[in-house]
Amino acid sequence: MTRPSVFPLPPNRTIGIVGGGQLGRMAALAAARLGYRCHILTPEPESPAGQVSAGVTLGDYEDPAALAEFASAVDVITFEFENVSAAGLDLLAALKPVRPAPSVLRTSQDRIAEKSFLNGAGAPTAPWRRVASRADLDRAAAALGLPAVLKTTRLGYDGKGQSLVTGPQALDEAFASLAPKPLVLEGFVDFACEISVIAARGEDGRAVAFDVVENRHRHHILDLTLAPAPITEETAEEARAIALRVAEALDLVGLIAVEMFVTRDGGVLVNEIAPRPHNSGHWTIDACPVSQFELFVRAVAGLPLPLPTRHSDAVMKNLVGPEETALWPEILAAPGLIPHLYGKQEARPGRKMGHVTRLFPRGALPGPFGIAAALGPLAARADRLEETVEIPLVPVG
Ligand code: AMP
Repeated sequence: MTRPSVFPLPPNRTIGIVGGGQLGRMAALAAARLGYRCHILTPEPESPAGQVSAGVTLGDYEDPAALAEFASAVDVITFEFENVSAAGLDLLAALKPVRPAPSVLRTSQDRIAEKSFLNGAGAPTAPWRRVASRADLDRAAAALGLPAVLKTTRLGYDGKGQSLVTGPQALDEAFASLAPKPLVLEGFVDFACEISVIAARGEDGRAVAFDVVENRHRHHILDLTLAPAPITEETAEEARAIALRVAEALDLVGLIAVEMFVTRDGGVLVNEIAPRPHNSGHWTIDACPVSQFELFVRAVAGLPLPLPTRHSDAVMKNLVGPEETALWPEILAAPGLIPHLYGKQEARPGRKMGHVTRLFPRGALPGPFGIAAALGPLAARADRLEETVEIPLVPVG
């Protein structure tokens, strides 16, 4: 039996979001503005998304009873992070429409599936090899050359689950340190910069994309996003075209972030995709008439997707861990900084606690020193961008 369509979702209906983090929180705030309620599935009491939503099902993502209870409370279901099982989403999809489809999550969750899909869709990636055994790693290293990056295929984020292999002496240790197998060995990309594009695609197949942004990481965690990316028009066009092609090839209904490397010759290689709102799109809340979160909600709810435009240039700086969170009073007092805090109770090292956005007139995004200065109390931290020293991510408490 086919269900009667609930799309376009009328006001006062409920969007179910799997996951209770800050992406769900900001999506729920955007949904509220469009007259929707959100209901969150999370195992965490007091979650960032739960705090601002109409309802919460407290439960495990794999628990069939929790999934059924959650589904019964909502009209349409989406997810705000990827470490939920696609089998769990399948179960939900039998009960309510799930957007994006569980198949999209299956592709993005596994680096091998993701890279195979991307290459098949004509989206270039760094050269890569599947590595199931130590002998595979030798063959892959011989084929790709070193340095190369060895990565787990699942559950990797913010640089966890990867190892830079600089020479043959490091192969044994890198192989032993990463699990589960199989792994992926990727050719090392000596990139000029890292960029991303956020695109949305509706049920009618129409896809739209935001401007390309540059992302700078610290200790493998996104630190700054510059909008727009200081790249050539040709590179930006190629990046946007790739993102739209990926959304189309996935038959996506929803929002997707496509992270890419810009090579020294101006080429573009896809690093990874995330079929949900993305940290590198937070600037859109303040610099665009329609943010990534509104576009996400619109795509999930079957509403029209306006062409994403930006009225301002912007810099977004994440507030990570206790040191940056401690600057909150200074941030609130600084002219021009737009503060966002996620309602997390504990500022653990490496944890994303909030972000700030600074707007500039269109076309007036300053260079590195100007950006650092514009971040006021965070200037000194933005100055030390180029540091590559690893800090261990030690949980506190
Ligand atoms: P990932 O977990 O794949 O998003 O990688 C995290 C970060 O590691 C990226 O944002 C890059 O800065 C770096 N990285 C990942 N893969 C490569 C690669 N093949 N070559 C160079 N740097 C990489």
